[in-house]
Amino acid sequence: MSVRQLFVTTALPYANGNFHIGHIMEYIQADIWVRFQRMQGHQVNFVCADDTHGAPIMIASEKAGKTPQQFVADIAAGRKPYLDGFHISFDNWHSTDAPENHELARQIYRDLRDIPADQGGSLIARKTIEQFFDPAKNMFLPDRFIQGECPKCHAKDQYGDNCEVCGAVYAPTDLIDPVSVLSGVRPERKSSEHFFFQLSDPRCVEYLQKWTQDGRLQPEVANKVKEWFSVRTNPDGSTSEGLGDWDISRDAPYFGIEIPDAPGKYFYVWLDAPVGYLASLKNLLNKRGEDYAAYMAQPGLEQYHFIGKDIVTFHTLFWPAMLHFSGRKAPDKVFVHGFLTVNNGEKMSKSRGTGLDPLKYLSLGMNPEWLRYYLAAKLSARNEDIDFNADDFMARVNSDLIGKFVNIASRAAGFLTKRFEGKLTTDFGVQGSALLSALREASEGIAALYEAREFGKATREIMLMADKVNAYVDQNKPWDLAKNPANNEALHQVCSTLVNTFAVLARYLAPVLPSLAQAVESLTGSDMKHWNAANLDVASIQPYQHLMQRVTPEQLDALFEPPAKLGSEPEFSAGKSGSDPNSSLPPGGEDIAHTISIDDFAKIDLRIAKIVNCEGVEGSIKLLRLTLDVGEGRMRNVFSGIASMYKPEDLIGQLTVMVANLAPRKMKFGISEGMVLAASHADEKAEPGIYILNPWPGAQPGMRIH
Ligand SMILES: [Zn+2]
Repeated sequence: MSVRQLFVTTALPYANGNFHIGHIMEYIQADIWVRFQRMQGHQVNFVCADDTHGAPIMIASEKAGKTPQQFVADIAAGRKPYLDGFHISFDNWHSTDAPENHELARQIYRDLRDIPADQGGSLIARKTIEQFFDPAKNMFLPDRFIQGECPKCHAKDQYGDNCEVCGAVYAPTDLIDPVSVLSGVRPERKSSEHFFFQLSDPRCVEYLQKWTQDGRLQPEVANKVKEWFSVRTNPDGSTSEGLGDWDISRDAPYFGIEIPDAPGKYFYVWLDAPVGYLASLKNLLNKRGEDYAAYMAQPGLEQYHFIGKDIVTFHTLFWPAMLHFSGRKAPDKVFVHGFLTVNNGEKMSKSRGTGLDPLKYLSLGMNPEWLRYYLAAKLSARNEDIDFNADDFMARVNSDLIGKFVNIASRAAGFLTKRFEGKLTTDFGVQGSALLSALREASEGIAALYEAREFGKATREIMLMADKVNAYVDQNKPWDLAKNPANNEALHQVCSTLVNTFAVLARYLAPVLPSLAQAVESLTGSDMKHWNAANLDVASIQPYQHLMQRVTPEQLDALFEPPAKLGSEPEFSAGKSGSDPNSSLPPGGEDIAHTISIDDFAKIDLRIAKIVNCEGVEGSIKLLRLTLDVGEGRMRNVFSGIASMYKPEDLIGQLTVMVANLAPRKMKFGISEGMVLAASHADEKAEPGIYILNPWPGAQPGMRIH
């Protein structure tokens, strides 16, 4: 087999926060594939970098009292414990603010701008557009930093791009009474010249139609991308035919890369972010004393990007077009994965976390390879969401990984050490030889599944083989053989067979479990670094040491237990003064409702619910998304309009009361499976405030309220 040259990346994480479990999933997925390729003997450069530019980081760093450079450096300094902790084998970690990226982004832009007329001419255009400008902050405002009244339904406090009440999509300049979120002042309309990458140019359209539909993308991704060539939705809600030009510039002040020959104009962060893949590679090659241009010019070089489904546009339209028309190599493939949900809960995205904190996982002493195995078992080549479920996790780790696989070694190794000085026989008997051959012959099939990123299928096949080995154990019962010295030879055969099968399976799992594979290499002397290395029989073993512990329910409980908080005692005082006790006004602003029977009340199933997780809802300023445990063995997703009163982190871990038998309601942001009880005055304007209920200590999740 010839040696392939592979350049592999994961998406660049935005440097405004620490990694969440969604990042780690992507890195593990890519890392398994990369490790498999390295075991095949191929040359892989596996790189990533921090995505550092743009308005959100500029504003966050200002709030933090740091320069943007210092802000992103501090974030970068926190990356290593995650990457090392989960055995992610990047060759390089870099930054989009590094000199290589400034240079490459500017050169790619120049190459696109300066395409000679006889090759169709420039793909960069300048257009003057009108945008909102914050006179207090002296900057143009991104859509999300403007709020105002919806031009359609007149709801207040809506963002600049769409209304969360009526769902209308519009341009920020359509808002009534707009204000800048940054300064609170009324923004002004101001004209500015912007630079556009002309994606609508027939050259780009023709190239991209071919590039996206020639089989390189996953079928479900290619189908989705196809739609973008026919109709698109404009910011004002209207639709147009085909690809639109892409606004690649932003005005100063902006943390980014200045556009050549255009003082005060910067590349939009998404222009220079993917260039960071190349910059990180170039930095790596420079450090090794290798030539970047020569590396990229290799005819056989394969370039792959692992990404999430939320950034497909950038990677299947803008990025290949930028590369191709600037005279560079376009990606061979883009591997798109879905989101990771946790306990049937929240969607994972760049900007939000979940209850599963990767560093907490590690700090609890949980084995990173449990997570690697679990994710591998769930991952396929398709762009589909997967769910981390605590019970499923425990079953797969304890029953499959340890019960079926690791136990093979522990059952055989002790006898070999005690009875045979650790020496193995190469006489496996008829049954043992057949078993071992069957396992070794599966090598190519398993390799094909890894190559195709069908990790779930690969682990399933490997576990089926482990089942065969365990059936062999049950038939031959080494613990019975060991009782009678007359069976010594049979015992030696069976245990030698088992250690050899174990070594084969460990090699098949090595891309997923690199640390365990290393331990097996120490135990058996079997080469775990080369897929095709060794069908050499194991000659002897070292004294057996525990290879892997089981995961415990206590660990999982601790993992999902919200952090303890101070000062979160429930408030029992009404807090509101000024109401006249002798007043004849109805209490709370409304009359007591009509009398009902106890049977009517019994129809409403009120339960104590534990708020397991709580977070803001992207695109909504009113709603919080609650993950509630009412003792059913599953989590409920409930939206509640209490964001004005409570910070998500203050609610996590608290008990409250919910209507548990309310019909699920489909909302814009997802399905709400119940309702949290909260008190408010009938006239929210007169008596603002909404207060959720909190039971006395002792109440348990799931208890019914009678
Ligand atoms: Zn509206």
